[in-house]
Amino acid sequence: MRNVIIVGSGCAGNTAAIYTARAGLNPLVMIGHEPGGQLSVTSMVENFPGFPEGVNGPDLVENMKKQAENFGAEYLWGTVAEADLSKRPFRLRVDEEWYEAEALIIASGASARWLGLPNEQLLIGHGVSSCATCDGAFYKDRKIMVIGGGDSAMEEAMFLTRFGSEVTLVHRRDRFRASKIMLERAQAHPKIKFLLNTVVQDVYDPHKKCVTGVTLKDTVTGRVWEQEVDGFFVAIGHIPNTKPFVGQIDLDPDGYILSKGGARTNVEGVFHAGDVQDRNYRQAITAAGAGCMAAIEAERFLAGHEGH
Ligand code: NAP
Repeated sequence: MRNVIIVGSGCAGNTAAIYTARAGLNPLVMIGHEPGGQLSVTSMVENFPGFPEGVNGPDLVENMKKQAENFGAEYLWGTVAEADLSKRPFRLRVDEEWYEAEALIIASGASARWLGLPNEQLLIGHGVSSCATCDGAFYKDRKIMVIGGGDSAMEEAMFLTRFGSEVTLVHRRDRFRASKIMLERAQAHPKIKFLLNTVVQDVYDPHKKCVTGVTLKDTVTGRVWEQEVDGFFVAIGHIPNTKPFVGQIDLDPDGYILSKGGARTNVEGVFHAGDVQDRNYRQAITAAGAGCMAAIEAERFLAGHEGH
């Protein structure tokens, strides 16, 4: 039995762990299937306050974890498979083990979204990737394609210019969600070519266990053609990791936690932090801030229920 369990070990979870541990609550952090969250698959973070030269994402999140551990937070490898939030103590299952807590902070983040192409899943790890930082170096002097029109796609495309002979950015519209500064940087890069109003129909070749090319379609003219590609990077957003909480707390139609204000969910004693609730800002610094808010609310909740 714990005072507080934190689900997720990204920026939000680690910050909640620092605060609750420092408050003497001995939090247990369930690491989840993507240890360190999205910062652990980023390269340079240039907009986290306090780092004028930028900071390496994996270093930043690892330091947060160490900071929480210094105050006594404990980390548990594993992913929550099932939850019972119908009464307190709340119960969470990781593998075959159930864990109980008086308060819960859900900071399980959001995972990469895939296109759903027939061959896509067969080629993950064989040329199809959602993480340029992890896999970019495999495509030195090769042809790289990035899918998406948001900041992630721009960031991945820019990063991949370090390796690829060329980087083609494919976007289904001709308008972008990406911020002006990141879009302009990508547009100005001599190695990046934009294919707009274009969708991918499939990626090949699963029989060769590597990516050899894609079929593309121009949504305006209807033209369909094939293009050689060696590395295929999907950067089209994320899906919130709320599966174990479906039916237990209020979620929106896309599965993001519905906030009841501050860090509160509709279940008293269950708090949210970071991208699992935030589809709007989704920044390291906002996730960290949300982790802090959830920790403070959990602390107050526990103080109010002491002895009950
Ligand atoms: P996003 O802003 O939601 O953009 C997703 C992109 O993928 C959109 O252009 C969308 O197209 C496209 N897309 C979605 N589903 C698709 C599909 N099935 N087929 C083809 N295209 C599809 O997601 P994001 O780029 O991951 O960014 C998320 C948040 O993180 C944003 O707030 C962003 O600013 C932030 N971020 C910041 C940085 C940074 O500042 N360093 C870096 C990365 C991300 P449509 O536009 O047509 O919907």
